[in-house]
Amino acid sequence: MCSTNSLAMVSDCSASSFVVGWPLWMTRWRRSNVLCSDPRTAASGLHRLTRPIGDGLCLADVLEPGSISGRACLGLGSFMRLKQFLFALLRFSLVPLLIREAVQRRRATIILYHDPTPEVFARQVRALKRRYNVISLRQLVDAVQKRDGSALPPKPLVITFDDGHVGNHALKPVIESLEVPVTIFLCAAIIGTHRRFWFLHAPSDRDYRRLPDEERLRTLADHGFVQSEEVPRREALSWNEIQNLSKLVDFQAHTLTHAILPYCSDEKARKEICDSRRVLEQAFGTPIYAISYPNGDYSDREVELAREAGYVAGITVDLGFNAVTEDLFRLKRICMDDSGGVTGVVVRASGLWDALKRLRRRPSYGWKESPANRIGVSE
Ligand SMILES: [Zn+2]
Repeated sequence: MCSTNSLAMVSDCSASSFVVGWPLWMTRWRRSNVLCSDPRTAASGLHRLTRPIGDGLCLADVLEPGSISGRACLGLGSFMRLKQFLFALLRFSLVPLLIREAVQRRRATIILYHDPTPEVFARQVRALKRRYNVISLRQLVDAVQKRDGSALPPKPLVITFDDGHVGNHALKPVIESLEVPVTIFLCAAIIGTHRRFWFLHAPSDRDYRRLPDEERLRTLADHGFVQSEEVPRREALSWNEIQNLSKLVDFQAHTLTHAILPYCSDEKARKEICDSRRVLEQAFGTPIYAISYPNGDYSDREVELAREAGYVAGITVDLGFNAVTEDLFRLKRICMDDSGGVTGVVVRASGLWDALKRLRRRPSYGWKESPANRIGVSE
């Protein structure tokens, strides 16, 4: 363990060569981006805006991958190169290393994936294993329950997946060969069926995560999406695939249909939370102890419902790390990129990327305000 951590440190400490070389790299980057290479962008005349961004490094635009202005001005290829540049800049600033050694050494990091390819996942997990000690979610929950972290290694890290995407099954050889504990949170009414994940089919005309539940379903239906409809192409894990993974993976609950809980009625929220636990327990014959709140959205009501339903832990996407004194129903988690490289992983796992994004605007997930505001809130 010592040697691998040292290796990671040496790798991060190659900052000196980066610091010396980065002005040259930046000059090259600017030269390659002063003219937009994306024909759609050029046709729209937006290429004129590329120079100010190339020259001025408009951080507000590039920190948000979904930014329309960022995409339009730079073109996707340029945007990705700039993003990689920023990741490198942040990594070799040594801030991630400092966070790891000063904060994450004593606090557990939980990371969140959705649907990475086996190649990306293997590359990222190898990088993480050189810097952290991967533990299971159960180990962390036990430590927090006992308020005793003596059984945890330094720099503990928990790997989780949300939703139960069909592609998760292809990760089996990676999970097996790298010997990492993994938890997958399943939508209990979508796995084992040909139903679809609504958020993969929501039009981009508005933020459907911020609509009252009935309005969300009604508007999605107007656009042709019906939650109960089954289609030929499967999006979620089948029961056979889950069975096949069950010796390697800890399966827990992610509600029934991925409803955004704070926007649901009391009755619907209770059903989503309680019934998902019941369905999975019946299927596995073992207690389901944790729920991941869809989109990370929760309020005091969801915490109470999860407790009543018999869960022991609730997982959010609140930014931060977990001490053994943490509230078990508000465990914090860091979002990873399903397609990123090693540099991005190092920066993201330190929480630095999420922190910078949240400086710019309110997070698009993690709703946890007063239950009095629960219904009908929109941004
Ligand atoms: Zn989800």
